[in-house]
Amino acid sequence: MITATSNTRHLNPLDSTWQQHFADAVTDPAELLRALDLGSEWLAPAEAAAKLFPLRVPRSFVARMRRGDPHDPLLRQVLPLGDELIETEGFGSDPIDESSYQQAPGLLRKYSSRALLVTTGACAVHCRYCFRREFPYEEQQGETGRWREAIASVAADPSIEELILSGGDPLSLSNARLNALTNSLKGIAHLNSLRLHTRNAIVLPSRIDAGFIDWIRSLPWRVTIVLHVNHAQELQGDALEALARLSTTGALLLNQSVLLRGVNDDATALSTLSRTLHAHGVLPYYLHLLDRVRGSAHFEVSESRGLEIIATMTSTLPGYLVPKLVREIPGAASKTAIVAQA
Ligand SMILES: *Cc1c(COP(=O)(O)O)cnc(C)c1O
Ligand code: SF4
Repeated sequence: MITATSNTRHLNPLDSTWQQHFADAVTDPAELLRALDLGSEWLAPAEAAAKLFPLRVPRSFVARMRRGDPHDPLLRQVLPLGDELIETEGFGSDPIDESSYQQAPGLLRKYSSRALLVTTGACAVHCRYCFRREFPYEEQQGETGRWREAIASVAADPSIEELILSGGDPLSLSNARLNALTNSLKGIAHLNSLRLHTRNAIVLPSRIDAGFIDWIRSLPWRVTIVLHVNHAQELQGDALEALARLSTTGALLLNQSVLLRGVNDDATALSTLSRTLHAHGVLPYYLHLLDRVRGSAHFEVSESRGLEIIATMTSTLPGYLVPKLVREIPGAASKTAIVAQA
């Protein structure tokens, strides 16, 4: 592990502070409800829905929720609800048809000039709206042997200029694994950009440790880190400290959000998010319309409502604080921008 500067609690290098925090997540619905002073009426549906996709939320993220409020926007993202058990027409298991874009095991090639490596299926948090909740990760696990094939495929394809590390969450891997991965990419001359898509950085701020910062600084490419924050309330306390550490790396910091009913589906919430991100060195990038995965229909916000929100934001914020409203459409050459019809 390359955490040479981290503290002496790391007697076992595989058992760093963040890994303990990762393992110590809340996974029992009863415990989550107790911690937030919520009534027992939420328990039976939470337990039923958690059977399909388990509850998992780091304690740091729970600490940012309001007590006694079942509609808290952070809680809504992680609390299993009975609504998830309702089958809805058009909501399936592979809504964006990812399985047909594999160039090598774990390497998704959809768009020109960039490829996405599924590094691991693990995430510190389980977001209820996640399109990967039904993803066949067993076939994509980022074991060293499997990466070899994906890396060979990147090396053999000069059209790939940017490699995107995604998952799951690449920050579920240890610094040592990340370092081994990027070491094996260093000989690829046509690669000039490395991107990380991560939610762990925000939900598990201790993940942004000294070893991680050293690793980012050591990389020979332009590095972009795309965070995943849906609501300004996520940006408190230790999460802000993690952002401050990230901003010392020189990496370009962007954010993507998913537009979620009951979480952030109003212009005020999203404008506050944009301003808060900016205050901490992060620019909004994408606002995604929901991928229609089974069990997530109750989160859906219509395109027209999304456009209304963007119009309000455009009229009140500088252009660089207005995210691009997009949707993933199978077969399209990029994310598809949703724009108002003239
Ligand atoms: C979203 C996505 C990308 C990145 O697209 P950008 O528009 O460059 O952010 C790349 N590959 C896959 C498979 C994706 O889903
Ligand atoms: S962190 Fe991202 S990949 Fe992981 S569960 Fe949440 S939305 Fe899905």
